[in-house]
Amino acid sequence: MAAAMRIPVRQLFIDGDWRAPVLNNRISVINPATEQIIGDIPAATAEDVDIAVEAARNALARNGGKDWASASGAHRAKYLRAIAAKITERKTELAKLECLDSGKPLDEAAWDIDDVASCFEYNADLAEALDGKQKSPISLPMETFKSYTLKEPIGVVGLITPWNYPMLMATWKVAPALAAGCAAILKPSELASLTCLELGEVCKDVGLPPGILNIVTGLGSEAGAPLASHPNVDKIAFTGSTATGSKIMTAAAQQVKPVTLELGGKSPIIVFEDVDLDQAAEWTAFGCFWTNGQICSATSRLLVHENIAEKFLDRLVKWTKNIKISDPLEEGCRLGPVVSGGQYEKVMQFISTAKKEGATILSGGERPKHLEKGYFIEPTIISDVTTSMQIWREEVFGPVLCVKTFKSEDEAIELANDTRYGLGGAVISNDLERCERVTKALQCGIVWVNCSQPCFCQAPWGGKKRSGFGRELGEWGLDNYLSVKQVTQYISDEPWGWYQSPSPSKL
Ligand code: NAD
Repeated sequence: MAAAMRIPVRQLFIDGDWRAPVLNNRISVINPATEQIIGDIPAATAEDVDIAVEAARNALARNGGKDWASASGAHRAKYLRAIAAKITERKTELAKLECLDSGKPLDEAAWDIDDVASCFEYNADLAEALDGKQKSPISLPMETFKSYTLKEPIGVVGLITPWNYPMLMATWKVAPALAAGCAAILKPSELASLTCLELGEVCKDVGLPPGILNIVTGLGSEAGAPLASHPNVDKIAFTGSTATGSKIMTAAAQQVKPVTLELGGKSPIIVFEDVDLDQAAEWTAFGCFWTNGQICSATSRLLVHENIAEKFLDRLVKWTKNIKISDPLEEGCRLGPVVSGGQYEKVMQFISTAKKEGATILSGGERPKHLEKGYFIEPTIISDVTTSMQIWREEVFGPVLCVKTFKSEDEAIELANDTRYGLGGAVISNDLERCERVTKALQCGIVWVNCSQPCFCQAPWGGKKRSGFGRELGEWGLDNYLSVKQVTQYISDEPWGWYQSPSPSKL
């Protein structure tokens, strides 16, 4: 049985090798499906972060930068491709680890690991293409000058990531940072770090130069905060909650350090009256319940046209009740537990507050009866919601969908934009002109038309408003780790002639 899998015992990954944390502390790893301790991870503190940052700095400076930062993109691409190949080779084992650590259904975890490998491959292509983009000429209005740009790595970067897609969220940052020629310190979430630590072993296997990627696991306050405020870190890229994002931005501001922030969301899905009810119901369920409902971009506010609301909700409840909830390693599992006891309590509290505020639990809302252990929560649909309720306004980050009806397209758009967040949004309708109007009107960074959630490493990802700023993935993701240098050359033989030249006797 896969649950008996051996959990690797790892230390911090610093300067190309495993190294015990200075204080030698460790954090238990709990399988959320069984509530059992299955292993532990090292708990880094500020001292370890200092060592990792120094290793990264030294790695960039080694051999005058020729080994990495000022090597060609094609050179770095070879390492990225080797990492991708190694991850693919270890896919089965990595997917199981992800599953045991985070509670993700195994099929989803396997999909994630494929995406991890693809993301490294894609960024290898970007690294190669970067060579052709150097010295891009800029047309100037004066013939006496010529100008071009160099795209250079930003330096040492701190990458702080969450637990919902542990290895994939780390890869969205590590792959472009390495492609750009940066050296990185990755700080994964203390709730799910196992696969990120395995990335260290992969780097060792492929011979990545020491110090180019360092992995320091540990608590946010003990390992993340010193990284965010470290004076020798040139940039922080963060994915996580809006509250932590705000703290990171405050810390980085003290040194005018750039940040990119991928934060929370409360995204809408708008279902118009002309849809195929079953297709729309499946996308609505997937948009909120996949990854056990723990998706930053979850379309967790359903807006459905009042003419079809009753029929549609009836179908949606049927689709939802058909979702297989089980141990994530069990075949066909489509909903596993939420990641931790703390997260379980938080989600249950949201459901109970919604009830107290007068909403109706249309489906779910409880722990599934057939599962005695584990942080499982039924996929939950909540109706009779008003726009002042907590369930409408705040991100749950669990399998909970709230519903409102609308009468007109204008009302649907107004309700969709009635949020502090602006990560994603979905529109489901057979009228493509209407979809286009709604797409333009939605105040967010990602819009899905006739679907919800699909994500490709070639397309930009990121939000507006309290969902953060900056874009990951695609070429935009690489730009996060590049600094643009303007080079302007005077090419005329004539003197500049702004000042009167001194008389020959004074020269
Ligand atoms: P979190 O903010 O609690 O933690 C994220 C990371 O920050 C962890 O590694 C944590 O250890 C670290 N951290 C915590 N306090 C810190 C501090 N003071 N200084 C530095 N680092 C600190 O978020 P989470 O619970 O791990 O993840 C869930 C959140 O992430 C949700 O809000 C979700 O919407 C968001 N998320 C966003 C995206 C996106 O692409 N926009 C993707 C995934 C998750």
